[in-house]
Amino acid sequence: MTTGRLTGRTAVVTGGASGIGRATAILLARQGASVFTADFSPLRDENNELYSQLGIEQLQCDVRVESQLAGVFDLAAQTSGRIDVLVNNAGIGMVKQIQDVTEADWDACLDTNLKAAFFGCKHAIRYMVADGRGGAIVNVSSNAGLLPRSHDPVYSISKLALSGLTKSLALCHSKDRIRVNAVCPGPVGGTRMIEAELDASDDRDLAVQRLIAASPLARAFGRMITPEEIAQAVLYLVSDAAIMLTGTLLAIDGGKSLGVPPQPE
Ligand code: NAD
Repeated sequence: MTTGRLTGRTAVVTGGASGIGRATAILLARQGASVFTADFSPLRDENNELYSQLGIEQLQCDVRVESQLAGVFDLAAQTSGRIDVLVNNAGIGMVKQIQDVTEADWDACLDTNLKAAFFGCKHAIRYMVADGRGGAIVNVSSNAGLLPRSHDPVYSISKLALSGLTKSLALCHSKDRIRVNAVCPGPVGGTRMIEAELDASDDRDLAVQRLIAASPLARAFGRMITPEEIAQAVLYLVSDAAIMLTGTLLAIDGGKSLGVPPQPE
């Protein structure tokens, strides 16, 4: 029998129905973890067969509601006896300038991208501390969590705050052997979020070209980043290979956050 890097561990992945969360749930399960996804839009037709082969449990949950999140951790811990890994991945975009932002827009974005991650950490840490074995949390932040962007201020604010949450909780809980890190992806293709943004643009091909052009490595390879490439970084951060890493913000953005890229030749 082969053992994976996460054999015997239990992982909760929020927003695990599509995109980066889906790729992460699949990779962690293939590495031996018992995986529970928490999503309010599960895409069962696409996922049921593979998830059932991999033993991935799909839980219906709106991560903005603390009681629903708590229920996910309670169920995962009752089923498998422990919580070792949390990936706070559920997120939504918000491409609007301040004059167009409603209170409901602000609440939707901040509640999904920030509040849910905070309360996810609260309930994961509750089990990790009680268990005494510690654990690993990865927050899926963004390039916007490193440098704010002019086209999506509310999203940038939510992700910059998520970076702060990552560092703050890393500091608070290293004594419990709980590591808290973040991945900060650049443009990731094929996800529901990016597809919705591209569909809303006037010229989809131009929008794709612009996304690729803003990331030096994406430009060099002529493509966007894949969800699987982000999942590989999450796997590293939750595995014992990263046992001394906490509070890091890992840019997987093809160099997008390094500065203004050179003009195309
Ligand atoms: P996606 O839309 O494919 O995945 C997000 C998932 O979160 C969806 O399955 C959705 O149903 C779920 N979700 C949203 N709100 C929820 C809620 N309230 N409760 C439960 N589930 C909820 O998009 P993605 O691109 O894979 O996004 C995943 C994460 O990656 C997000 O946090 C996003 O901000 C971040 N990110 C994406 C990109 C990109 O270019 N795609 C870049 C940087 C960061």
